[in-house]
Amino acid sequence: MNTRRLLQRFFRYVKIDTTARSEAKAYPSSPGQLRLGRLLVRELHAMGIDDAQQDKFGIILATVPPTVVQPAATVAFCAHMDTSPETTGKDVKPQVIRKYSGGDIVLPADPQQVIRVSENPELENVIGHTLITTDGTTLLGADDKAGLAIIMESAAWLMEHPEIVHGPVRLCFTCDEEVGRGVEHIDIGQIGATVCYTVDGHGSDEIDVETFSAETAEVTIRGVNIHPSIAKGRMTNALRVAADFLTRLPRDRLAPEATDGREGFVHPLEISGGVGEVKIRFLLRDFETARLEDHAQVLRQAADATVQAFPAARFDVKVTRTYLNMGDGLVREPRAVSLAEKALAQLGRTARKTIVRGGTDGSRLTELGLPTPNLSSGAHSIHSPKEWASLEEMILSVQWLVALVETWALEK
Ligand SMILES: [Zn+2]
Repeated sequence: MNTRRLLQRFFRYVKIDTTARSEAKAYPSSPGQLRLGRLLVRELHAMGIDDAQQDKFGIILATVPPTVVQPAATVAFCAHMDTSPETTGKDVKPQVIRKYSGGDIVLPADPQQVIRVSENPELENVIGHTLITTDGTTLLGADDKAGLAIIMESAAWLMEHPEIVHGPVRLCFTCDEEVGRGVEHIDIGQIGATVCYTVDGHGSDEIDVETFSAETAEVTIRGVNIHPSIAKGRMTNALRVAADFLTRLPRDRLAPEATDGREGFVHPLEISGGVGEVKIRFLLRDFETARLEDHAQVLRQAADATVQAFPAARFDVKVTRTYLNMGDGLVREPRAVSLAEKALAQLGRTARKTIVRGGTDGSRLTELGLPTPNLSSGAHSIHSPKEWASLEEMILSVQWLVALVETWALEK
């Protein structure tokens, strides 16, 4: 594998500011994403991948042509070009630590920013690696430019090694994943693959096989508004009703701050309004899709109890589906996971199956009918100035992708 070239790619990509903007109406939400996309298309053309193009939404699609004549499954790899708005991605100055010898890492431009072993226990596993950090003033953008660099390097490697047996390999680079719009303009028919892998995961040798199933509940509380001077016995203040309602919800369970592992939650996210009307937005999350109905029921029961105390108040609870647990769809194409494990086993490594307490683009793609687990990308502590990546772990992912397309081609 070409480690040097992989690192150079990663550097080129992180230096383009592609911060997603949640408030933007345009798609993509920031012009840097289009600029990075154009660079990727040029690089794909230079590799001999002639069909690479950027569509009108900024999405990149390309095909590494098959090396086999008999029909073989089309495998797709997907990564997102934007970075999280939580920390700026402007003027990223990546720092390289060669042969990391252990211990805390002080970031040079802001000594307050320290990547601590106590907060990053996985640092113990990367001693001797080449680590890439920020200078402490921006995020790194390994989420998901590590994924982009891994997929691009895998494509280059496949183009240079026609002796590797594989079917068509589709590449798909998306925009605005970090603001929940990653698959808004994706047509799975255009990807045209049997299976897809997002390369947007953590560390090495992990395969995310489940995500939350997710719903949003909008609770509207209507009170009775009247001038305070004549309010006695007549006003029902929706703000007081909302406060009462919120205290009736469980806090020591079913809350993100009180749960982990496979436990779901009912999470008040946002509140707005006044005396006459209040709206509260909730996130409902669970790995068992059927339990989302129980979570909505928790809201309805608390609403009923609140109305006992405020008889003039009115509640309306509206629930909308956001995405489904990827695991629900992967059962229909179990090879998506089993062949990823097999490919890694052929490299003498063992895949760890993991679950994500959130959603991925793969949750939506899987729901739409394209099974899409998520693979490791060498990234750690994402979305923050303390983000870092291991070059060796990125190489492990390149090896995994190459083995994966081979494994799918040999699958009968
Ligand atoms: Zn990501």
